[in-house]
Amino acid sequence: MINKNDKKVAFYTLGCKLNYAETSNIARILNEGGYQKVNFQDNADFYVINTCAVTGNAEKKCRNIIRQTIRRSPTAKIIIMGCFSQLAHEEIKNIEGVSLVLGNSEKSDIIKYMQELDNDTNSLVSCNDILKIDEFYPSYSSGDRTRAFLKIQDGCDYYCSYCTVPLARGHSRSGRIEDIVNSAIEIGKKGIKEIVLTGVNIGDFGKNTGEKFIELLRKLEDVKAIERYRISSIEPNLITEEIINHTAISRKFLPHFHIPLQSGTDKILKAMKRRYDTKFFSEKVSLIKKQISDCCIAVDVIAGFPGETEKDFEETYNFINSLDISYVHVFTYSERANTLATDFENKVSISERHKRTKALLELSEIKKKEFYLQHIGQSAKVLFESENENGFIGGFSENYIRIKVPYTHEFVNKILELTIKEENLDL
Ligand code: SF4
Repeated sequence: MINKNDKKVAFYTLGCKLNYAETSNIARILNEGGYQKVNFQDNADFYVINTCAVTGNAEKKCRNIIRQTIRRSPTAKIIIMGCFSQLAHEEIKNIEGVSLVLGNSEKSDIIKYMQELDNDTNSLVSCNDILKIDEFYPSYSSGDRTRAFLKIQDGCDYYCSYCTVPLARGHSRSGRIEDIVNSAIEIGKKGIKEIVLTGVNIGDFGKNTGEKFIELLRKLEDVKAIERYRISSIEPNLITEEIINHTAISRKFLPHFHIPLQSGTDKILKAMKRRYDTKFFSEKVSLIKKQISDCCIAVDVIAGFPGETEKDFEETYNFINSLDISYVHVFTYSERANTLATDFENKVSISERHKRTKALLELSEIKKKEFYLQHIGQSAKVLFESENENGFIGGFSENYIRIKVPYTHEFVNKILELTIKEENLDL
């Protein structure tokens, strides 16, 4: 039963799919609590900003959006949550105009804190030590996109030397298969056809429950209303042959893997405290392509890690170029507080980091174009989205090729089969 309290709330999300799933979940909780969701540009009584701290740039964006929102709506209640909030709540609470600062384990209780705020409490901070948190807060996104992000796991115990995520999200923990399957059924009832499984280190699923990731994939296969699943980023050492085989024969799990590589030299991988070397990584890529020849493989890489010489970078560039992959997500290394790498010597200059980032982005475009052109003349099942993009409607094929065709309203949120022509490729 929705009790009307006419209070308007608006949301702004930065960062990863997990953050989008959690914001969407909180919007549903507040809606059930009688709050009316409005667009972020509109006037609202409460503005909720879900933050990210994965890079220095992400933090900068958070500070900017917080300050802009306060300037734009000086009388509204400004609520900050998420990873930047978890890590820097002391700094954020001192920003004039911020009303509520919530840590990552407090955000699911937001309604309680908002009611306290309503009782003219000026500002509140609630941020537990996330490393003491064992609870898993389920979430999924719905309503604002064609595909839903379904949170299956949270936290990470890997402590790669450059990464602040374990400090922001706590230990690796996941939901129970039964609950996740029920969420998938709920999502299906909303007319959503595709789910992206998301988390922080999703291959580590079941660490706290003893359940197996492969079992989850098998159970999700039986959810009638959901036609397609994508596995979001998964560590190379956690992609088992079972997962590859399942994806190869599955009617629903799509031929698309996103695998963090981070560097193409064993020297830097070791300094990063990654759990594989280049030989292991290239063999994993070959194994996937042997089983699923048209599989889309995206890799993450960090440019400018401390100690990365010009020769190391060249080696990384050539290594990525040698892999049968589809595109690259490139991150410019940035120091994160309380991470080992921040104190490493032989730092790479900012300008050099950007130069290397640019080179890898260009390489990614070359790889992507090659991958797209390989599929001309082949048939593809495309899930069309809703936007009319200059007279075209777009969507992704099973192996994540962006396709566009002349806009037809009947195509919205439909999975349609077509033969790929060059003019359909949305490069
Ligand atoms: S696996 Fe490494 S990079 Fe990924 S979230 Fe965990 S610590 Fe960070």
